[in-house]
Amino acid sequence: MDLHVFEGNGQPAIVVHAGAGGVPQSYTRSERKECEDALKQAVDAGRAVLEAGGAALDAVIAAVTAMEDFPLFNAGRGAALTTAGEAELDASVMTGTGQAGAVTGARHIRNPIEGARAVMEHTRHVLLIDPSVTMLREWGVAAADPSYFVTERRLRALQDYLAAHSAGGAGLGAGNSGAGGGGARHGTVGAVAVDAAGHLAAGTSTGGVTGQAPGRVGDTPIIGAGTYARDGVAGVSCTGFGEDFIRHVVAYDVVARLQYLGESLQEAVAHVLANPAEVDGGLIAVQPDGTVAYGFDTAHMWHAQWQG
Ligand code: ASP
Repeated sequence: MDLHVFEGNGQPAIVVHAGAGGVPQSYTRSERKECEDALKQAVDAGRAVLEAGGAALDAVIAAVTAMEDFPLFNAGRGAALTTAGEAELDASVMTGTGQAGAVTGARHIRNPIEGARAVMEHTRHVLLIDPSVTMLREWGVAAADPSYFVTERRLRALQDYLAAHSAGGAGLGAGNSGAGGGGARHGTVGAVAVDAAGHLAAGTSTGGVTGQAPGRVGDTPIIGAGTYARDGVAGVSCTGFGEDFIRHVVAYDVVARLQYLGESLQEAVAHVLANPAEVDGGLIAVQPDGTVAYGFDTAHMWHAQWQG
């Protein structure tokens, strides 16, 4: 397990991830550099909001939107495809004050995290399936044609996956450990921030896993599994094999351990990631004093951070 905690100094902070998995061998050196630059741009987008005195929620949305727009990450354009060759996008956002919104199976929202925010701010619901273009228009959220999300790279990854899993028919949509190797396991994006007022926010966005069954829902849009935030305690965004994170309610578990057991962030994250048989992936977290953590029990997790 790789786990790092950076103490805060009472200033705003933001940390982002872009997925956990094996060593991203399927990326060329220049693609890896592009991914690192994209992470830095995402942190800078959030940082700009926080330095201007903006809200943690706005910083998280700015960072996640930047990563959704980057086609090598598995969110927004360039997301992983279902066995039907389509992108079904999941995203969620939560504020430390207890507001939450999420979308699942979204096929028309250009930036799914904006859809999640709109569900939170414009409806009395938490989670909507594939909001229509009409709804998006009412909310003032940009729509996109489903073809916008599909890239050549993801079509190739799907073909590889289908070829590797067709013999015997076993495992279709059952995981993401097949063809494509380490690189196929990367790219879900997330951000967690604390602002100058000490408020927390967390957001996560993904296309799920390559070759997932149409209609499959992972942890990312499930509040408590992939995303959670509670002011005074912590915000958390997760990445990895989503079914594990749902079964173990991982994001909420970190917050609960901090709040109810009085564990340190180091202890809480170590505990939930301690058994690789239970949880395969990683997470990022921020506390109200600006303490930042990232941890993963895979070989690699893209991440970057800023502390004021
Ligand atoms: N957690 C995401 C899902 O299961 C995938 C990932 O983070 O790689 O949909």
